[in-house]
Amino acid sequence: NLGMAERDPEMHALLQEEVKRQNDGIILIASENFTSKAVMQAVGSHLLNKYSEGYPGVRYYGGCRVIDKIETLCQQRALKAYGADPEKWNVNVQALSGAPANFAVYTGLVPPGGRLMGLDLTCGGHLSHGFQTPTRKVSATSMFWDTRSYRLNKDGFIDYDSAYELAQEFKPDMLICGYSAYPRDLDYKRFREIADSVGALLLADVAHFSGLLVSGLMNSPLEYADIMTSTTHKSLRGPRGGLIFSRKEFSDAIDDAVFPKMQGGPHNQTIGGISVALHEAMQPEFKEYSKQVLKNSKKLADSLMKRGHTLVTNGTDNHIILWNLRPHGLTGSKYESISNHTNVTLNKNTISGDKSALTPHGIRLGTPACTTRGYTEDHIEDVAEFLDRICKEALKIQKERGKKLAAFNQGVEESDEVKKISLEVS
Ligand code: PLP
Repeated sequence: NLGMAERDPEMHALLQEEVKRQNDGIILIASENFTSKAVMQAVGSHLLNKYSEGYPGVRYYGGCRVIDKIETLCQQRALKAYGADPEKWNVNVQALSGAPANFAVYTGLVPPGGRLMGLDLTCGGHLSHGFQTPTRKVSATSMFWDTRSYRLNKDGFIDYDSAYELAQEFKPDMLICGYSAYPRDLDYKRFREIADSVGALLLADVAHFSGLLVSGLMNSPLEYADIMTSTTHKSLRGPRGGLIFSRKEFSDAIDDAVFPKMQGGPHNQTIGGISVALHEAMQPEFKEYSKQVLKNSKKLADSLMKRGHTLVTNGTDNHIILWNLRPHGLTGSKYESISNHTNVTLNKNTISGDKSALTPHGIRLGTPACTTRGYTEDHIEDVAEFLDRICKEALKIQKERGKKLAAFNQGVEESDEVKKISLEVS
C-alpha cells in the first residue's frame, strides 16, 4: 500500500510544489483559507469510498449505517452553528459546492423560465446569481431562468431604492442577496420588504462571510430569509462544499432538487470534513480568529488609504477590501500580473463601471487566509507596504512599456524591484 511519493512521483512533486507556493506566499484571495489538519483528515479518509444516494434513513445503497450518523451530525452542527431553529429550519449538506447549492435552490423553488433577481456581477454579485451580457448568457442561471440584476449607487453601496424599483417592474419570483466582492454588511430587513412587495422568495447567499456569521460578527439573514446558502471553504475554513438552509415548507423541494434531480451520491468525505469544520467554528478560538480577520481587514483598508489609495466605499465592514485602481489609470489585470511574480496572491475584480471582467479596474483583497497563518495588525502594515510598492512598480512599468499587456509583462519579468519584493515576501 504505497504512498503517493512512491506510487506517483510526478503527481507527488506537483503537490509539494503547490504546498510550497501556499506556504511561501502571502495569500490575500478573499475566498481562500487554510483548513485544519483535522478537516484534511476527514476529506482524505475512508468516507470517500462510500456511495450513499438518498438521505439519512432513506438510501439507495446498503452499508450506510455510519454515513447516516455522519450526515445527521453534520446537519445538527450546521443548524446549531448558524443559530437556525431546528423547529423551523432544515439543512441540506449534500450540495457539491456553492454554485450547485444555488442552482438546487432555483431548481427546487422556481419553475424553468421563472424570474430571479440578484446583485450584478460587476457590482460584486456571484455568477450563480445570474449573469448575461447583451450577446451572451454567461451563467447557466441566466439560460434556464429569466434574470435581472440590481446595482450599487455611485458611492459603491447597494442601491436598495433602485432594487425596489426594479423589483416592481420585473416582479421576480426570487430575490437573491449575498455577494462575492462587496465590502459591507447587508440590510436583510430591507431585502425582505422588497421581496414582500412583489411576493418573491428571499434567498441569502452567505458564502463569503459564513465564518464571520457563525462567530456572530455579521448580521444574520435567518430572521428574514426563506433560504440561506453557503459555501464551507471560505471564511468558515472547511473543505470545499455547500450548505442549503431552508424554512421547513421549502425543504422537501430542495432535497428533491439536490437528489435525485441534480446529483447522484453525496461526497461523504466532504460532509465529514464540513462536520469537523463546524465543530471547530463553534469553539471560542474560532471566534477570536474571526475577530482578528475583521481587525486585519480594517487595518489593511486604513493602511492602504493612508498611502493615498482609493477603496470602494472607503473602507470595509467585513473580510473584503475592494481596491479601485482607476484613479491610478491602472487595471487590476496588470496589478495581478506583477503580484503573481512577487508571491503575493490576490485577484483582479470588476468594480462598478467596468466593461470587461478580464481587464477590470479593481483588486479584491481578503484577510481570512493570512489571519489563519497568524497575521496580526503589525504584519498587515507590512502587507500594505508590499501592495503599495507593487502599485508604484506597476505604474512605472506601464509608463515605460505602454498599455499593451504583453509588453507590460515583459517589463515585470525584467524588474529588479519585483524580484526584490518577491524575495522579501518569501
Ligand atoms: N456564492 C457566492 C456568494 C460566492 O462568492 C461563490 C464563490 O465564490 C459561490 C456562491 C460559488 O461557490 P463555489 O465556487 O464553491 O461553487
